[in-house]
Amino acid sequence: KSTMIKQAQIHWSNNTPISSEFDDVYFSTDNGLDETRYVFLESSQLASRWQASNGKNFSICETGFGSGLSFLCTWQLWLEHSQSEQQLHFLSVEKFPIGHSDLKKILNQWPELSELSQQLIDQYPPLVPGWHTLHFNNLDHQGCVTLHLFFGDIDEWLPKINRPVDAWFLDGFAPAKNPEMWQQTLFTDIALLTKPLGTVTTFTAASNIKRALRSAGFTLKKTPGYGKKREMVVAIQTHNNGPQAPYYVANNPWHETPKLKESHSKKAIVIGAGIAGCSTAHALAKRGWQVQILEKEESVASGASGNTQGVLYAKLATELIPHSQFYLAGYLYSLNLLKNQLSKEHWNNCGVLQLAMTEKEVKRQRSFEEKTQLQSIIQAVNAQQASDIAGVDIKQSGLYFKNGAWVYPKAWCKALIENKHIKVHYQQDIQEISNKGFNWLAHNQSGDTFEADVVIVCNAQQAKSFSQLSFLPTKPIAGQVSQVNAPKMKLNTVLCGGSYVTPTLNGQLNFGASYRLNSESCQVLNKEHQDNLNTLNEEFPSVGIQLSGTEPLSGRASVRCTSPDYTPIAGPICDPQHFITDFSALTKSKKWKFYQSAQFIDGLYVNLGHGSRGLSSAPLCGELIAAQICQEPSPMPGACSNG
Ligand code: SAM
Repeated sequence: KSTMIKQAQIHWSNNTPISSEFDDVYFSTDNGLDETRYVFLESSQLASRWQASNGKNFSICETGFGSGLSFLCTWQLWLEHSQSEQQLHFLSVEKFPIGHSDLKKILNQWPELSELSQQLIDQYPPLVPGWHTLHFNNLDHQGCVTLHLFFGDIDEWLPKINRPVDAWFLDGFAPAKNPEMWQQTLFTDIALLTKPLGTVTTFTAASNIKRALRSAGFTLKKTPGYGKKREMVVAIQTHNNGPQAPYYVANNPWHETPKLKESHSKKAIVIGAGIAGCSTAHALAKRGWQVQILEKEESVASGASGNTQGVLYAKLATELIPHSQFYLAGYLYSLNLLKNQLSKEHWNNCGVLQLAMTEKEVKRQRSFEEKTQLQSIIQAVNAQQASDIAGVDIKQSGLYFKNGAWVYPKAWCKALIENKHIKVHYQQDIQEISNKGFNWLAHNQSGDTFEADVVIVCNAQQAKSFSQLSFLPTKPIAGQVSQVNAPKMKLNTVLCGGSYVTPTLNGQLNFGASYRLNSESCQVLNKEHQDNLNTLNEEFPSVGIQLSGTEPLSGRASVRCTSPDYTPIAGPICDPQHFITDFSALTKSKKWKFYQSAQFIDGLYVNLGHGSRGLSSAPLCGELIAAQICQEPSPMPGACSNG
C-alpha cells in the first residue's frame, strides 16, 4: 500500500481556491462560510442536539478536510452551544492535504474565524501519512475539542474508526468530479458506523447519492439547498439495530475496550509519576477526571524518566509498518504537546541526526528514504550536510529529524501534571491493588488506602509485583548515562548512532547509555562511565576531542522496562486465564475467526514497557488510555492498536 502523501495543487479564481486534481472549488464561490454553516451545521441541527445531549460527548466525521473551514465553523458553534466538560471529537480524512502556506492564505479570508484558524495553523501537522491527533483548548470553556485528522485515502481511514459517529459531513468535491470517493461501499460503511438517529449531510442532491444512502438504510429528509441550489441531502439513521461492531472490533474482538460502570465518579488512581504516569494523568484530567498519582519516590521522574536530557525522535522501519506508524504518530504527538506545554529552557527541537554507523545501516536508510517519502520531517543527509547541521565534523551519512529534540523529562512531567484535577502523593510504596465492589483500592506501605473508579498502573517494571499483572512479559534493562562539564562544547544537534550525545545543558554534556540486560541494578559504575566515554570517542570523535579528558564523569543509572517486541503495553488488562482459554484456537491457526470479546478486569489499565523511547510513546499511550476509559474515538490508527 502506498504510504506517500501528495500535497494539494491549488489555483485561484478571484478569492476561491480550486483543486487542480479535481477541477472543483473547495467551497462555494458566493459565500463559503455561510454555505458551510447552512449545509453542515444547521442542517445537522448541531446546536440543538448538543444542548439536548445531557453533556454527552459528540463525534463528527468529515470526508475531505480541505482547508478546515467546516471544522473551524463547527468549533466556533461548539464554543457557543456545548455544555461544560462536554468533548467534541471531529474526525476528518484528507487524501491531498493543503500545504501550510496555502492553508494560511485560504483561512486569512475569514477574519471572524481568525482566533481559531491561528490555533489550527499552529498545530497543523506536517504532510505525512497517518493519524494526527490535535487538541484545542477553549480558554474559559471547559469542554475540549479534539481533531483527529487522517492523511490518506478514505478507504484506508473508514475501517480504522472505532466508535460510532453522531454526524457525518460528506464534502469530497462533487460526485461527478470525484466518482471514486462516492461509491456505494462508502454509504454502507458509514451506515455501520452511525449511531441511531445519527445524521449525514451533504451539499449534493445527485440522484445516485440519494439512492445509495437509501439502500444503505438511511431515511432521507427533503431539504432546500443553499442559495440558488434547489436541494441538498439530510439523511437519518433510522435503522433499528443502530451501529454494528466496527470492522476493527469485529476482526479483532480481543480489542474491544471494556465499558466503565455508568455510575462512576470520574476518579482515577495513577501509580507512578514518570512520563507514562504523568501523561496518563494529564489526559484524564483534561477530561475533567480527578486523578491521584501515587509515587514511591520523593519527586516525579525518579526512574527511567529521570535523565537530564532524553532524546525525542523515532526509530522507524524502512516501510511504515504498524510499529513505525505508531512511533511516528507518537513522535509527532509529543512534539506538538511540548510546543504548547514546556518552556524552551527545558527542551530544544534542535534536530536529531541518526547516523549510519555501518554499511548495512547506510543501505537501510537509503531504502527508508525511497519507501517512506517522509522528507518533510526526516531528510536523508550526506556526511558534509550532517557536518554543516551539527556544526562539527561528521564522517557518516544519516537521517536528519528536522524537529527532533532533547527534552528534560522531569520538567515535562511537572508541566503535564500542572492541573487542578491532579494531586500527587509522594513516598507511597503501593504494595497491593484490590477491588472493593466496583471500585479499586491501592494499599500503601503503612496500610493506608486510596480509592477510585479506575487504576492505571504506570510504574514500569514494578507493575509485575501486583498479582493481577504478574503475567505481563516485561523485562528490565538497566542503563547508565554519563555527564561531564563541557561549557565550551560546540554541537548544534543531537547525534545518535549506537549511543547518543546531546548539545550541552547548563554547560554539561550528557551522553550514553549503557545496557545491562535483565538487570535491575541502579548502581552507578565507573567502568560504565568509561565505556560510555569510549563509545562517544568512537562514534562521535569530533565531540569527544573537545573534552579535556580529565574532567570527572558523573551520571545516573536507572531501569528501563521493555516488552518482548519492544513496543509499549498500554490499555485495559484482560483476565489472563479467560484470554488463554477463549482464544486458544489461535495457537493452531492465526486465521481463526472469533466473535466474542475478551474478558477484562474492569477498571484496571496499564501504561508500561516504553524502554528508552518513552518520550515518543508514553504521551500518545496516555491519550489512548483516557480515550478508552471515556469510550471516545481512538487517537491511534486502528492497525496500531490492533497489532
Ligand atoms: N471540508 C473542506 C473545507 O472545509 O475546506 C472542503 C473539502 S473539499 C470540497 C474536498 C476534499 O476532499 C479535498 O480536500 C480533497 O482532496 C478531499 N478528497 C477527495 N477524495 C478523497 C478521498 N478519496 N479520500 C480522502 N480525501 C479526499
